[in-house]
Amino acid sequence: MGFIAVLGSGLLALVASDPAGVGDAYYPGYGNAGIDVLSYELDLTIEPSANALKGVAAIRMRATSDLSLFHLDLVGLDVDAIEVGGEAATFDRDGRELRITPARAIAADSEVDVLVRYHGEPEVVPDPAVPVEGVGWFWNGDAIWVMSEPGGSAGFFPCNDHPLDKALFSFRVRVPRPLQAVANGKLVELLEEEDARTYVWSARDPMATYLVTIAIAEFDSETWTSPSGLEITNWFTKKSRESSRKAFQKTDEILEYFSSAFGPYPFEIAGNILTNARVPGALETQTKPVYGAGTGTEEVIAHELAHQWFGNAVCVEDWNDIWINEGVAEYAAWMYLESQEGAEAFAKKLKETYAMARAMKATPPGHMTVRQMFGAAVYLRGPFALHFLRRQLGDERFLALMRRWMSDHLHGNASLEDFLALVDELGGKDARAALDPWLFDESMPSVAEWDAYVEERRKDQEARRALREAERAEREALRKAQQAEEDAKKNTPKPEEPAKDGASGESKPDKPSDGR
Ligand SMILES: [Zn+2]
Repeated sequence: MGFIAVLGSGLLALVASDPAGVGDAYYPGYGNAGIDVLSYELDLTIEPSANALKGVAAIRMRATSDLSLFHLDLVGLDVDAIEVGGEAATFDRDGRELRITPARAIAADSEVDVLVRYHGEPEVVPDPAVPVEGVGWFWNGDAIWVMSEPGGSAGFFPCNDHPLDKALFSFRVRVPRPLQAVANGKLVELLEEEDARTYVWSARDPMATYLVTIAIAEFDSETWTSPSGLEITNWFTKKSRESSRKAFQKTDEILEYFSSAFGPYPFEIAGNILTNARVPGALETQTKPVYGAGTGTEEVIAHELAHQWFGNAVCVEDWNDIWINEGVAEYAAWMYLESQEGAEAFAKKLKETYAMARAMKATPPGHMTVRQMFGAAVYLRGPFALHFLRRQLGDERFLALMRRWMSDHLHGNASLEDFLALVDELGGKDARAALDPWLFDESMPSVAEWDAYVEERRKDQEARRALREAERAEREALRKAQQAEEDAKKNTPKPEEPAKDGASGESKPDKPSDGR
């Protein structure tokens, strides 16, 4: 589409000239030009009772141009010292930007180690797309949860905080007993001390910074191996209720379904982290999605696990590509529902979501603002783009397209434009005609059979409203009648009341009679 092509050429100009930011359409200051991080080794000592963090970030990076200065993103916290290539570097701060001047310039294409020592109390990072809760590091007195999409990771470690720069991660997290520390990937080492434990986690595959999670709490965990040989661990904070853990038993079935539909599960390990905290919803953090209190339903779990394919293994290039994460993961979750509960439940899901999207006047997911990024456009309207593409292609060709999408971009990034190009290639004009109106038309396309349902629902709601109104009027009339009766009683002298002594000079006050 022309619209996206115009934005694309704007990006290149920004990348070339400004080290602060990669020119993202929604978050132009996020990420940093001139560098490509290869790996992060985070060594963190955390005291949750005081929300105190002491960290060493060892970052291996490649210069993508000659650099006499480069930036990382970091919000809050105090930087104690920075070394580049083993030599002390100077640095200063400007908002999110940590500006680093190495002792000697770095030549394009060379690799260098950057060591950042820092400490402080991490805070939630404000975000226009998550205006109420913010994103990143959530501390609630004795536990810590991390949900960073889109820019919260810079709130607890210095990083190139944009999905374009995926890197390898390992974590060394020291916490006081009896707390435990969980992070992405596999637990490779556990060091025991008298008062503390150090958990060493390592993730095999590249990961975008926003998908990093660290969870610190007391956990009950359960580990098993799926029929296809995948190790799965669910981590439940001890404070979570037994009933809230139940749906996580479905993890196997959900992963098996997505593997058969979209290709093999992309990572070395799987699982979920259930908090008991009021964090913003749930997030698909890589290999271990995190769930806020009350969000661990089968449908939400399916959505977050679908993201392991759509969003994590294949990740947006720019935050305005968000439909390829959210719209696609949500439709995949609907397909799982269809596989479990059948055609009728699926049809009900479609028409109810359509009605909701209509009522909320969902904007086109291909033309949004940053504030609409996690709203009705992608979650309610967005999945229909895939649904009508699937109807046009038939299941076999649709699933082949989705598997090709995975294999073309596995462990990399892709854009909405890339998805459209693939639809052009494999589906042609008719496929685009089915997909495009849901993504780009200003008003949402109409579907006659669902419009009939919307109309029925509207009439039904109107009838219920009228009934409620009639009941209310009836109650009000009854109340008035009772009041009138009581007032009438008060005006009538009671027979057992002694007669007033006229000699006292008191007289009965006049009361207006009822009805005036
Ligand atoms: Zn999602």
